[in-house]
Amino acid sequence: MITRTAATKNGEKRSHDNGKSRDPHANSTALGDSRGIRDGGVSEPRTAAVAEFAADVFSERVMRDLLPEAVYYSLTQTIRQGRRLDESVAEAVANAMREWAIARGATHYCHWFQPLTGSTAEKHEALYISDGNGGALTSFGASALLQGEPDASSFPSGGLRATAEARGYTAWDPTSPAFLTRYGGNIALCIPTVFVSWTGEALDKKTPLLRSIDALSEQAMRILHIFGTDNGVSRVRTTVGAEQEYFLVDEPQFFERPDLLMCSRTLYGASSAKNQQLADHYFGPIPERVRAFMAEVEASLYRLGVPVHTRHNEVAPGQYEIAPLFEEANVACDHQMLLMETLTRVATRHGLRALLHEKPFAGINGSGKHNNWSMCTDTGVNLLDPQDETHTNLQFLVFLVAVIAAVDEHAALLRASVASSGNDHRLGANEAPPAIMSIFLGEMLTDIVRQVEAGEMTRTLSSAVLDLGARTLPQIPRHAGDRNRTSPFAFTGNKFEFRAVGSSMTCAWPNTVINTIVAESLAKIADRLEKTLKGNTSPEKLASVVFEVLGDLIRKHKRVLFDGDNYSEAWHAEAERRGLPNLRDTASALQTFGEGNVVKLFERHKVFNPSELKGRQNILAEKYATEVRIEADTMLMMARQLIAPAGTRYEQELATALAATRSSGLDTSRRERLLKEIAVLNESLQMQIDFVTAWLDGAGEPADSAVGEACRVASELKPEMDKLRSLADRLEAIVPMDSWPLPSYRDLLFIK
Ligand code: ADP
Ligand code: MG
Repeated sequence: MITRTAATKNGEKRSHDNGKSRDPHANSTALGDSRGIRDGGVSEPRTAAVAEFAADVFSERVMRDLLPEAVYYSLTQTIRQGRRLDESVAEAVANAMREWAIARGATHYCHWFQPLTGSTAEKHEALYISDGNGGALTSFGASALLQGEPDASSFPSGGLRATAEARGYTAWDPTSPAFLTRYGGNIALCIPTVFVSWTGEALDKKTPLLRSIDALSEQAMRILHIFGTDNGVSRVRTTVGAEQEYFLVDEPQFFERPDLLMCSRTLYGASSAKNQQLADHYFGPIPERVRAFMAEVEASLYRLGVPVHTRHNEVAPGQYEIAPLFEEANVACDHQMLLMETLTRVATRHGLRALLHEKPFAGINGSGKHNNWSMCTDTGVNLLDPQDETHTNLQFLVFLVAVIAAVDEHAALLRASVASSGNDHRLGANEAPPAIMSIFLGEMLTDIVRQVEAGEMTRTLSSAVLDLGARTLPQIPRHAGDRNRTSPFAFTGNKFEFRAVGSSMTCAWPNTVINTIVAESLAKIADRLEKTLKGNTSPEKLASVVFEVLGDLIRKHKRVLFDGDNYSEAWHAEAERRGLPNLRDTASALQTFGEGNVVKLFERHKVFNPSELKGRQNILAEKYATEVRIEADTMLMMARQLIAPAGTRYEQELATALAATRSSGLDTSRRERLLKEIAVLNESLQMQIDFVTAWLDGAGEPADSAVGEACRVASELKPEMDKLRSLADRLEAIVPMDSWPLPSYRDLLFIK
């Protein structure tokens, strides 16, 4: 075991076994330790991977070695405690960063940011240009570290910026460490930055995330203050660990599929006889080539300081997962972007292609990103960690109930935070999890919540020991709650797991929403407690007031709690009875951003002003409609140029053969039926091609808003695309394999 972190994985066991979680370090596990690792806290480097950990990161340890003491101290105050950045440190930091990067072979630097395209952006500048006389024509210094000025006009702003208003700024985010990327034999220094317009409006994913982290911290601190547990605590951090699912396909097959190349998902494909029915891929032995790929991904990520920890085969054939240890949310979200990029890049070196799309294949599991989320003081106390006597742990209950209330109050917003054309194939499409937001608490907490509701706290259901029935096997402690794989928002021991995030998304956006809605909940609770207590925080008074407030909240929001099977039709009916929103597609989910209470929510916590929010709504809606149109265009191209010709060839071949056979007087009646089936399919396919073409050519009136257009695309175009696909898939199932122009699902899923 390399560190405490690795030894305990995620602390989930801990919270249930023996009360060790009272140790503040036990609660902080990876958060504290991943910094520890980054800072060189590796006690026994056993493998090359460990020795290489964060080798390409301008980490706190590197800064401690290279920066003047006062500068280092000032900067760590900003990084650890969220103090405002003292810009006078920039010169020393820039010089140290430049020399450190050049010594490692870097030639360029860039501001690395996350515009609203969904991916990352970087524009490289030379770190140093020699003047040929021992001096520099130009070199990287304080101003280049602090601020960049990319042309903002080509990035989406959703109407925030007119095309002519090109000015945008990137600004250094000192709380996420700079790092080196090594691609194609070239090394570049990447500096994480925010990206804003010249009026200061956020044009990226990081700015609102950082604002939401501040908002959550501010409100959580009020609760700690009420409980008198804020001693020595400067801020409350959000922690995130995101498990990433993905598919791998053989690269030559990938190149033969225009749909994969253009849209990252198959737009056609008859299902393979065997797929995931036997569940024999899940956790199975990892195929050789995939294992080599994973090892290279991990080694690359370790160099970048990304603490990836878990790897395994997922349920669908060709599907895998990689999960990191959790970190502070801002760093975790940056690392998530690096993780996705690394998966994509490294795959090609192994003759593979990584598909991060939410639904690359119809009929089998899609891919998600389980977003594990908690709140943790900067002294290392996980605020969602129940103690042994949970019912007496009032402060934990406040944070727990705050999350329950937040998810119920803002279920539609939470749903909208994971809305995308890709994710629509999972949420609301009979796949895990559904579009109805509900919370799984598990047996122990459900029992406790019931007691709070009833106003009487007496017991904590404790975990028992599981006897495995064979003497040679160890006894394993049983968690006090079972797991529920179908819940979109599940409490898993000492954190919540938001499972509705799509595999290709950045985590920054859903976490911005979670932080904001929980901040709002905490603010309301703090308001009420402060008002009623009026400074009287005797333990008895505190307990009685807290129980009263929590009891009210539980009565109001318990409809969002559900421990059963979230896939079942019974739950859909029950959820409707309970009045829970079920926003089946992106177009309807995005309308939520326009609602008055949502606009006020983001404004109150200074996460978005109304125009920033409107901009985001527009961008997401435009992106949705554009993606679906690209899919429709790609489908048409494939239908016209690949599928219809194959169908027609077979029809002709069959017709010629049958005419010859008939003329020799033999019975052809069954094959006549086959011919007829093919002919009808070919004709219907052509009809559907014409229909979709006409729609795209503008037969319909475009709506006057981005969201309206997304709705039109969803309700009018998508069903026609589905029909087109189903005709083509039926053809694929009968056309001779050697004349079908596309690699089949069988090839894509099973060639490893
Ligand atoms: P499973 O697949 O069983 O849900 P994994 O072990 O694959 O669990 O992933 C759990 C994830 O949750 C890991 O990324 C882990 O670091 C993360 N995690 C654990 N504790 C916390 C926490 N307090 N805050 C945020 N994430 C956490
Ligand atoms: Mg997992």
